[in-house]
Amino acid sequence: EAALSAFPQAGDREVETALRPKKLGDFVGQPRVREQLELVLESARKRGVPPDHVLLSGPPGLGKTSLAMIVAAELGAAIRITSGPALERAGDLAAMLSNLAEGDVLFIDEIHRIARPAEEMLYLAMEDFRVDVVVGKGPGATSIPLEVAPFTLVGATTRSGALTGPLRDRFGFTGQMEFYTPGELGHVIERSAALLDITIDDAGRAEIAHRSRGTPRIANRLLRRVRDYAEVRADGQATLPVVRAALEVYDVDELGLDRLDREVLGALVRSFGGGPVGVSTLAVAVGEEPTTVEEVCEPYLVRAGMLARTPRGRIATAAAWEHLGLAPPSDAAG
Ligand code: ADP
Repeated sequence: EAALSAFPQAGDREVETALRPKKLGDFVGQPRVREQLELVLESARKRGVPPDHVLLSGPPGLGKTSLAMIVAAELGAAIRITSGPALERAGDLAAMLSNLAEGDVLFIDEIHRIARPAEEMLYLAMEDFRVDVVVGKGPGATSIPLEVAPFTLVGATTRSGALTGPLRDRFGFTGQMEFYTPGELGHVIERSAALLDITIDDAGRAEIAHRSRGTPRIANRLLRRVRDYAEVRADGQATLPVVRAALEVYDVDELGLDRLDREVLGALVRSFGGGPVGVSTLAVAVGEEPTTVEEVCEPYLVRAGMLARTPRGRIATAAAWEHLGLAPPSDAAG
């Protein structure tokens, strides 16, 4: 979270909640996932059963939580929200599950980080809508079966590859979230600007859209930082020059790369000659957690054609060298 562009500020979380799209119709982009999801929901509605469990996979800030809430809203169901790291003990999950009413949506964010005992309990709950609660320890331990109301699990993950096979297999549908196009982000920004009462012109909007790393959360965050700048240093209007000046202050470059993105590329190129280098070594070089580098920075650097993941490690492409203003070595990956 903290590694996303333009430093989160106090109050950002509240604003983020306010900006969340509430209906499928307000949800911009992701045409594939939306169409697939609509079919899953509609057919369940026709058959009068809770829909299959849904896994949403993709980098942070692409709308997985928003979509989970929309699924519940479309079903007219209540949503219970938890996360993988919060489910440390199987008992934590048992408590969540036993509180579900029929048809509820259970949202588990960062589901790849769920602890093993809770994960094993989840298998049975997803498949048979029951759990076995173990009471006591050692030879005297007994397992008490508990019924769980039929529910729909929506899991979100930034690393579907880190999910165990048995867990992945129990989802009836996986939606792979994609980065947004600048045009789609333009719509996100237009909607947010209207909700937040920010005056921004077409050119200013397009500029933010191009510099948001394909990510609505970043687009909304940059829009708010631009508003701060416009109010303090200009006349409140987010025109193109105002947007450019504001993004300069916040260290967001023409491609939307932020300081951490550029540090990662810089270390790869300057300290490791362009690679290949392992992700943990790279993370140490920039003083970050490997998971942050891997899940927050790399997906967009790969998509922007700056970094390649190879079996031997990460390598910088010629475009990365050029972006840093350096001449690529003659054998750099194109
Ligand atoms: P994730 O769960 O994937 O990290 P969120 O659902 O929390 O992402 O989305 C982050 C923010 O980005 C939301 O508060 C919302 O304002 C905005 N957002 C995400 N996806 C969309 C979208 N498709 N349309 C409009 N706004 C979106």
